[in-house]
Amino acid sequence: MQRNFEKIKNYAPGCKIIAVIKADAYGHGLIRVLPALTHADALAVATLGEARELRAAAWNGRILVLEGCYQANDLADVHALSLDIVIHQKEQLLAIKELAGPPRIPVWLKIDSGMHRLGFPIADTESILGELSRCQSVLPPIRLMTHLASADERNNAHTQAQIDAFSAVTEPLAYERTVANSAAIMAWPQSHCQWVRAGIMLYGISPFVDSTGPMDGLEPVMSLETQLIAIQQLKKGDTVGYGASYVCPQDMLVGVGAIGYGDGYPWYAQTGTPVLLKGKLTHVLGRVSMDMISIDLTGHDAAKIGDTLVLWGKGLPVETVAKSAGTIPYGLICGITRRVEFVVE
Ligand SMILES: *Cc1c(COP(=O)(O)O)cnc(C)c1O
Repeated sequence: MQRNFEKIKNYAPGCKIIAVIKADAYGHGLIRVLPALTHADALAVATLGEARELRAAAWNGRILVLEGCYQANDLADVHALSLDIVIHQKEQLLAIKELAGPPRIPVWLKIDSGMHRLGFPIADTESILGELSRCQSVLPPIRLMTHLASADERNNAHTQAQIDAFSAVTEPLAYERTVANSAAIMAWPQSHCQWVRAGIMLYGISPFVDSTGPMDGLEPVMSLETQLIAIQQLKKGDTVGYGASYVCPQDMLVGVGAIGYGDGYPWYAQTGTPVLLKGKLTHVLGRVSMDMISIDLTGHDAAKIGDTLVLWGKGLPVETVAKSAGTIPYGLICGITRRVEFVVE
């Protein structure tokens, strides 16, 4: 993870780095990743609850709460925990104005430059900045942010339009700004500004659909592994697993791996989803169960109970698995459940 962090610095020299560790650090463990992030200029989480966990773990650095908060009494907590918040809609603006005086809270004003999810209309930027700067409960300097909808598509016209729209309004203003997620850090240098927000690339995963972490010079951090716990010699016409959805086209060896959707391996992974058995490629057969998957042992005659299966990670990029299973790498890594034992190497 530290080496991926160094890569971010190479992509965005001179920029301050916000390490995005929402959703339990994309499934890697919110607290577990902290030792690798001591050089981050800030951490970002989605919710106040996540920020509380970081402070409880004695993280003293800057923490940005990306969704801000919604209850007036949460602002007291925000101040008590020394958090930075995003303000992206009117109710939040009203709440901080109602505080009417210290405590003073660092604020990142989010502008909607075209993603149409969070943020104030771009035309309102200056008037809201005016309101915030007059607000006694806001600790200067205010910072500006926006989020890109399609940065993961190189040369996407919508992304360029978002960058242009945001720049036109905010460049003349003397505020620090942040636009770039991982994809923009790597593919849209014109979006870098003073702060970049790195998520997926920190974990060694490519933000681009046509690439993988290793192809982009990143090192995957997570490897999801299990063992072979049974081997079945099946006959032509035998069926495998729930729903009897896989029918053996010939006599064949079928293995059972101790992992299923109860661990976060996706139920919707179909026959053909790749799996590594002792470093050699094979694939899922039939339906994924809660605790087990069946895999094809054709050509793996030496396979034996206890052999290691890699579901993704070392030697099998999660991007490849995601594509095959019809999801995105983010969805797979965030889905790992509590039952899976973490081993930190
Ligand atoms: C999650 C998130 C990021 C990080 O995105 P990646 O694609 O994982 O780099 C950046 N900014 C905001 C506002 C986010 O919600």
